[in-house]
Amino acid sequence: MSSIIRLLPDHVANQIAAGEVVQRPASVVKELLENAVDAGATVIKLVIKDAGKTLIQVIDNGKGMNETDARLCFERHATSKISIAEDLFKLQTKGFRGEALASIAAIAHVELKTKQADAELGTHVIIEGSKIVSQEVAVVPDGTSFIVKNLFYNIPARRNFLKSDTVEFRHVIDEFERVALAHNNIQFVLINNGSEMFNLPASNYRQRIVNVFGGKTNEKLVPVQETTEIIEIQGFVAKPEYAKKSRGEQFFFVNDRFIKSGYLHHAVTAAFEGLLKEGTHPSYFLYLTLPPNSIDINIHPTKTEIKFDDEHALYAILRATVKHSLGQFQVSPVLDFQRDETLDTPYALENTKSVEPTVQVDAGFNPFLDTDVKLGSYEYQKSNRSYEDVFSSKSSSGFKSSSSGSLSSKMNASSFPSYSKNTDSNSGWETLYDGIKPATEDILTAQGHTFESEVKNETLFELDDTERNFKNQSYQIQKKYIVSPIKSGMIIIDQRRAHQRILYERYLESLSLQNNSSQQLLFPLTLYYATFEMELLKSLQTDLVQMGFLFETLDNEKVIISGIPVTISESEVSIVLEDLLNELQSEFPDEKDVLKDKIAKSLSQSLAVKTGTYLTDKEQENIVDSLFACKEPNVSPFLKPTFITMRVEDIDKKFML
Ligand code: ADP
Ligand code: MG
Repeated sequence: MSSIIRLLPDHVANQIAAGEVVQRPASVVKELLENAVDAGATVIKLVIKDAGKTLIQVIDNGKGMNETDARLCFERHATSKISIAEDLFKLQTKGFRGEALASIAAIAHVELKTKQADAELGTHVIIEGSKIVSQEVAVVPDGTSFIVKNLFYNIPARRNFLKSDTVEFRHVIDEFERVALAHNNIQFVLINNGSEMFNLPASNYRQRIVNVFGGKTNEKLVPVQETTEIIEIQGFVAKPEYAKKSRGEQFFFVNDRFIKSGYLHHAVTAAFEGLLKEGTHPSYFLYLTLPPNSIDINIHPTKTEIKFDDEHALYAILRATVKHSLGQFQVSPVLDFQRDETLDTPYALENTKSVEPTVQVDAGFNPFLDTDVKLGSYEYQKSNRSYEDVFSSKSSSGFKSSSSGSLSSKMNASSFPSYSKNTDSNSGWETLYDGIKPATEDILTAQGHTFESEVKNETLFELDDTERNFKNQSYQIQKKYIVSPIKSGMIIIDQRRAHQRILYERYLESLSLQNNSSQQLLFPLTLYYATFEMELLKSLQTDLVQMGFLFETLDNEKVIISGIPVTISESEVSIVLEDLLNELQSEFPDEKDVLKDKIAKSLSQSLAVKTGTYLTDKEQENIVDSLFACKEPNVSPFLKPTFITMRVEDIDKKFML
């Protein structure tokens, strides 16, 4: 029998290796930028077209290659950076595996122009799918330029797998930022589709961070600095109040290399303990320097994960160092974001002694001796009285916290007017049944009567005449659900999901209407975002304007907003936009309608009342009325049920046990 094992041809082996090294355009960007850094460049320029799908070019002024190396660099395991195994443990360069260029050349059209400073002429190489198409002597500037075109041209499956340009470009920016933040002494330029997006001059770390993330970043940074025998730490953490809802700005660099480490991330988060608002993440830019022989970089093809010799010690040092910095810069005392000022002791009473209340008890009182009142109505009136008492005293004494006050005005004044067709609360309640219909129709038809007959011909609540004025009464339980009696039993509405549905439909509608009204701001709002976020905002501009936003300025530096939709309050604008940008960073739909849907969803999520918010009677009523005026009241925009109904029969069954 003849043997069947064969060595794979180089171009096949390279394509396989490419699968590991090159996942998307951003992977090419990372490899080329790192090669330029390794070549000792002081200026590195990245040119991108169509998120890198069409073109990625990196131009550097580094040491260049001679004629032979210009061809050899595309061979697998061809590297000038290590020669013996021991070199792996004293790495000073980003690259060492010698497989990036071979991989890239296997799956794209690549062009290389390179020249060493002391050479008269340079070299021009064209290589496609691992095959050298041409190599010529050429007149080119000192340094190296790689052009990578039509990535994955020969692997359609991989090309189709790429995400939208916005998402792929976000990845490109991520890699650019990581390399640029690690190498502050090199000038980096990024040109995207013909326009300059970044031009970062050589500078110190702080200035580099500010240049990447925008002018406002400076005031957020708290310096971190520590030198021990096993590690040197420098860099910055952002003050806790600037913690973000997304994990965007979290950077560890180990010996000038961006790395990901869940363990070290935990150490930093632990240092912030008690300082962060729930659901927010601290930003940090930490530069760690360790002896090269105490780390192993060669555990992952993309070299973003590394192994440390003494992880536990590093954890402890890092946590203590960050904690110390936060303390030193007086951001440490626990900030209570939920603090309710109305509960503070007034200044004038601060040093006075508290007085014990005196309680008068009618020792002879026995409620069961009150024979004049029938038990049922006694209970009803009693609970009704206490209900009214509680709520009227709350609002008249100003006990109600200011946050629920603003919620109330928001709900009444802005969130609901579009549903004013239901100003008569009865008609609102009738719509309620339209809404319930799809959910309960089956059950009702099975019982031999249709829904319509139940709704239209009878009163909605089986209350006797004296109770009729309470027929729209609802109760809030656990500041989470609105419970209300209906003829067949009761309905339990999830307040947050219901409000999300209401807002979602409202925003969706306003995104398709022209001339939505907008409220002019007395003092225009200035907001600052990272360059990439500004780009995103620009691509959303038309939709946002349609909703009622007015932009006075929207450039790479800042955004000045002079008008906002009537449905959003000024204090909510930054939260709404931040959430929206977070949402769209990971997935930016190309399809217009899908984008609108995403915007409406994001806004509904940011602005819907939170679970745990107290709702007044009027607010509860508004939610119920508006929910059932919706096109699809049964589910939230995220397809979770907004309400459930419990029939009397179901309740009866529970009592039969
Ligand atoms: P590695 O970086 O792991 O050595 P690469 O495939 O990325 O492997 O590059 C192969 C070799 O090509 C490098 O070792 C280096 O000698 C050379 N090279 C790549 N890019 C450049 C550049 N921009 N300037 C000079 N030499 C380069
Ligand atoms: Mg390399």
